[in-house]
Amino acid sequence: MNIALLCIGDELLKGSTINTNLAFLGSRLLEIGIYPELSLEIRDRKEDIRTALDYAFSRTDTVLVSGGLGPTADDLTKEGVAEWFGVPMIRRPEAEQAIRNYWKNRHSGCAPVHWIRQAEIPEGAEILPNGFGSAPGIHLERGGKSVFLLPGPPLELQPMFERSVLPRLKEHLDNPVQTALFRIVGVGESEIEDLLEPHLNPEISAAYCASPGMVKLFLTTRNRKELERCTDAVGSLFRENVLPPGITSLPQDVLRLLAERRLFLATAESCTGGLIAGQLTAVPGSSETFLGGVVSYANELKMRFLGVSQKTLETEGAVSRKCAQEMVEGIAAKTGADAAISVTGIAGPGGGSAEKPVGLVYIGVKLHARTTLLECHFQGGRTQIRERMATKALHLLRSMLMESAE
Ligand code: AMP
Ligand code: MG
Repeated sequence: MNIALLCIGDELLKGSTINTNLAFLGSRLLEIGIYPELSLEIRDRKEDIRTALDYAFSRTDTVLVSGGLGPTADDLTKEGVAEWFGVPMIRRPEAEQAIRNYWKNRHSGCAPVHWIRQAEIPEGAEILPNGFGSAPGIHLERGGKSVFLLPGPPLELQPMFERSVLPRLKEHLDNPVQTALFRIVGVGESEIEDLLEPHLNPEISAAYCASPGMVKLFLTTRNRKELERCTDAVGSLFRENVLPPGITSLPQDVLRLLAERRLFLATAESCTGGLIAGQLTAVPGSSETFLGGVVSYANELKMRFLGVSQKTLETEGAVSRKCAQEMVEGIAAKTGADAAISVTGIAGPGGGSAEKPVGLVYIGVKLHARTTLLECHFQGGRTQIRERMATKALHLLRSMLMESAE
């Protein structure tokens, strides 16, 4: 079985709705071993629907369609699909009854005519019940070609997919795709590719997706033995840089390592303005490990809350190695934390000088009695620079935690 996805809706092409149905369908299909062949996004136009089906069915035997099933005049998906298959639209009493009941439970009076129009179904199609909306889903199969029409709203599409589409697809599943996902931290995308390259062959492919602080590596194959061999290779190449199963982000892994060692963490942030604390507290259960932090933007607060000395600020400045050191030692002393992070730098776009350019940052990490200080130079805009500072600081703490365990 080969699958194409077809997402219909003017709003998708205008950019006013993000195509989350594609992300949902793609990832759920892959989980059961189906790698979709292609996806098309088109406007609500019958001729475009027919052309898209021509192309999709030239490459695949099954098409999952989302959108355009609603009661408004711009919803033309069913008509377009019925025309492509050469079948008329028929009003189905059981669909009409379901729509009338749906209306009665939410409104007074009778369902309007355009709502009842949703009960018009291509002849010979199977109705897929919609537990969360008025538009029924549709499954039509003819001449070895199968199409599933699903409503656009994700809250309706997702349960319908799970309940009515997935079981039917599973019946036809042959030679499923096997995948493995690795989250790698502290190694760049190109370096991962170079190191992995000798372990790949035409039977197994690798895809890379870089996000702040992490690269996701996907391996895809139809050969289980190949997947096992390559998984072992990833393990021995990248070792502790691979996040363990169930850990999906760098902050989550840092918290895991701290919790394993029963250590508490505190932060003192200047230019990141609480970004690190925000990333840590976004992880459920962080309260067991993260004590809190100080956003010490003004020098006054660096002195008052962290004990940074006036002399340091006057002679070295707030963006200095010495200030990062006093910040990290100050927050550790004030809170009693076993581990602490400090960040002070120039995120830009203004505020830089020849001596201290935009992107210059000092990071301090303290673990027990040991303090490590880093000077970094980051490129990019304000958001990127701040993101990179946070990532670098968390990386540094992670490596120190790993080292301390060895
Ligand atoms: P529909 O009436 O079935 O065309 O879709 C109604 C609503 O579903 C749209 O206004 C969108 O908010 C949402 N929707 C449609 N297609 C998608 C999609 N591909 N991803 C996410 N939401 C969508
Ligand atoms: Mg629509």
